[in-house]
Amino acid sequence: MSITKIAAESTEDSQKEVLNVFQSTQSVIKEALKKMNYSDEIYELLKEPLRMLTVRIPVKMDDSSVKVFTGYRSQHNDSVGPTKGGVRFHPLVSEEEVKALSIWMTLKCGIANLPYGGGKGGIICDPQKMSFGELERLSRGYVRAISQIVGPTKDIPAPDVYTNSQIMAWMMDEYSHIREFDSPGFITGKPLILGGSYGRETATAQGVIICIKEALKKKEIRLRDARVVIQGFGNAGSFLAKFLHEEGAKVIGISDAFGGITDTNGLDIPYLLERRDSFGNITGLFEKTITNQELLEMKCDILVPAAVSNQITVENARRIQAPIIVEAANGPTTIEATKILTKRGILLVPDILASAGGVTVSYFEWVQNNQGYYWTEAEVLEKLQTVMVNSFDNVFRVALQHKVDMRFAAYMVGIKCVAEASTFRGWV
Ligand code: NAD
Repeated sequence: MSITKIAAESTEDSQKEVLNVFQSTQSVIKEALKKMNYSDEIYELLKEPLRMLTVRIPVKMDDSSVKVFTGYRSQHNDSVGPTKGGVRFHPLVSEEEVKALSIWMTLKCGIANLPYGGGKGGIICDPQKMSFGELERLSRGYVRAISQIVGPTKDIPAPDVYTNSQIMAWMMDEYSHIREFDSPGFITGKPLILGGSYGRETATAQGVIICIKEALKKKEIRLRDARVVIQGFGNAGSFLAKFLHEEGAKVIGISDAFGGITDTNGLDIPYLLERRDSFGNITGLFEKTITNQELLEMKCDILVPAAVSNQITVENARRIQAPIIVEAANGPTTIEATKILTKRGILLVPDILASAGGVTVSYFEWVQNNQGYYWTEAEVLEKLQTVMVNSFDNVFRVALQHKVDMRFAAYMVGIKCVAEASTFRGWV
């Protein structure tokens, strides 16, 4: 029997939709803990981050005015090891979202068996409207504001939406100045010359394509015959499109924040990669575009949301035509939509598994920084392959064993690690 059929029998189709990613995460944690017979105390520990810092960052703008930005750093749980997670620059960053993202990082690290807990950061800003100099001052100001609670053995940031290796370089430089010693292990996703790792820039996409291959095996579809739609053409989406194109799959739809472009014969990926801007925008080059909603509902073999949260909801879940969804983005599908998709026999590989390639190679980067000894790209990719395939197999097995969908199984795997570590430490 297929995993999705089994899961459909065990889930209920609910019409009540929770778009607040923090609340919906808490509810799945509660359910997963109950299924594994853990005590209510563990839920009390895991339902909120252990630490959440809100900071206000004054930045001198290019016109000499001062703008004060709000930023966050959430550290969900450090029982397994130091917390780890990206920093997002986006106008819609919120405290609740950052908290949820840090919980997902705890689960992701558990699934990939990394010695970390989950952290996350964000600043409410619109980087597309800021100059290079303003972004540098904001990045440095953020590090000064959170410096007390972060560090190579405490909490290690990384890139996320609208942040990149240049921003990581500024942050690392600022931290090293504050501590008065070179601290490459403070942050990952750095440029190679500053202690970055081979393979980090492409790691999330590499991890996603490994999951795609594993999911295709379950549905007996060959990658070369697959038609893929990708929402988002930033770090995750654009490298994924490149790798799929190189492996002979057809990428028939791609979008950015402003809309999507399609070609049923396969889009010209090398051309799009050459023309995309540093924020992953591409549709401005085309006259004929579709909406992001239309893109998500396209007929294809694999749909990869690789942009923002809450894209597949009860509103559109019944109209999704892809038999496989692999989530590169964090939180693109609501819990209620997951139930609908599962009932419809769609195989959904959840974010906390599919996008774990990024944090896995961030871990490799941190290990190399701590050792001061650097690996080849081939070594990094081989190690990543092992982690991703083992993680996929483990989650798939747990899903079959407990007759649940892969998202729920991924929560169970991730929660088990943090619950066990917290118990051994005597916290609960
Ligand atoms: P990015 O900033 O490089 O790119 C974001 C892309 O999403 C851009 O193409 C942008 O135009 C598009 N976008 C923004 N808002 C949109 C909207 N409302 N509708 C449709 N498209 C929109 O970001 P990224 O690093 O590629 O991250 C994308 C997703 O993957 C995020 O959810 C992120 O948390 C997740 N993720 C990233 C990494 C990583 O290492 N970069 C790791 C794990 C998970």
